Amino acid sequence: MPNHIAAQLEEIRSKVQQSALSAGRAPESVKLIAVSKTFPAQDILTAVNAGQISFGENKAQELEQKAAALPESIEWHFIGHVQSNKSAKILQYANWIHSVDSLKLLTRINRQAGESGKHPNILLEINLSGESSKTGATVDEAEKMLQAAAECSYLRVAGLMSMPPLDANEPELRSIFGTLRKLRDQWQKKYQIPLPELSIGMSNDFTTAIAEGSTMVRIGTAIFGKRDYDQS
Ligand SMILES: *Cc1c(COP(=O)(O)O)cnc(C)c1O
Repeated sequence: MPNHIAAQLEEIRSKVQQSALSAGRAPESVKLIAVSKTFPAQDILTAVNAGQISFGENKAQELEQKAAALPESIEWHFIGHVQSNKSAKILQYANWIHSVDSLKLLTRINRQAGESGKHPNILLEINLSGESSKTGATVDEAEKMLQAAAECSYLRVAGLMSMPPLDANEPELRSIFGTLRKLRDQWQKKYQIPLPELSIGMSNDFTTAIAEGSTMVRIGTAIFGKRDYDQS
């Protein structure tokens, strides 16, 4: 029985707020995204009934099945690699796509958003950990995407996302998160595009991410428990 979910959600919510306060930030400046990948719709419903609104999924098919079965009030965040043949399906359900990592994908999503009357919020995923990560755009590619964003009128580029290597230590995490924040500050100024969102922070590093300016933490394990298999 997923009774633990409501209690863990409450605990994480309180830790997120506390981390924001410790960093001198408003508690409501950090959005908690409950990463529900691999967990059944029933568990999501438990979290919804405990007041959770935003959920993260990383597979198009799984998102579709869950979104179809669950309340429309849910705000879905797509956080996984976007395969180009799945982008239309993802757009149909996700209000936010955190993982747009190429110019080609950005323009494709913009075209499909125009065709389907959607207005998705987009984050540019940047790889700041070098070879140890296979997903995410280079800094140069991400800047090109931002330059193209002005022409992409059917979507809103709202900020940046990054995934540190799984084995990163505290100083490495701080450095990666801080680099992302500085890039955001710099590009915001240079291109006059508001980039309010920084999607950083998972179960093991959200406190550090919030201290470095995270506005969206993506937390799975600490809310729903250990996943049976890891598909990321
Ligand atoms: C699975 C996943 C998360 C959640 O990770 P936890 O360690 O379970 O909190 C966050 N972001 C992305 C992109 C993921 O794939």
